[in-house]
Amino acid sequence: MKRIAKVRPAIIKHYYLQHHNRNSPSGQMPTNTLWHADGYKQSTHSALVVLVFLRLLDEIKQTRPNATRDQLIAHAFTRTLAFYNDSCQGDPVLSPERAWSITQHFSDKSAFVRNAGNPNGIKVVKCACCEIPLVVLSHYRDYTCELCLSGKKVH
Ligand SMILES: [Zn+2]
Repeated sequence: MKRIAKVRPAIIKHYYLQHHNRNSPSGQMPTNTLWHADGYKQSTHSALVVLVFLRLLDEIKQTRPNATRDQLIAHAFTRTLAFYNDSCQGDPVLSPERAWSITQHFSDKSAFVRNAGNPNGIKVVKCACCEIPLVVLSHYRDYTCELCLSGKKVH
């Protein structure tokens, strides 16, 4: 966790404590991006975090034209994490480390095209049926979410 030197350590520590109720183990960054596509909950939460992050990054760029890219990313990530943890009301699916890992994965390209040609990659798509954003494996063309497939979704 301490490898996230570009985000103020106190901020990370704060969120980590809030989430895990213990201190961050050092040097344990999640590297398996496929985790984010593994199931409806991970998939929808990951897509939400990515889209909020990219939106905030764009907005902050407009208001802070002189900031460095690292500053912009740190600012956008902090706000994304605050929004995400608030939205989840203390029960987030993504740890701060996973949120960091997934936002950095998509931070330099559009979420919808990143790794689109990589068979082992992930990308953000919208469900072909209900249009909820999801993180899925790159090889899917049309993707229908689990809820739509099972017919449980109330439209
Ligand atoms: Zn759906």
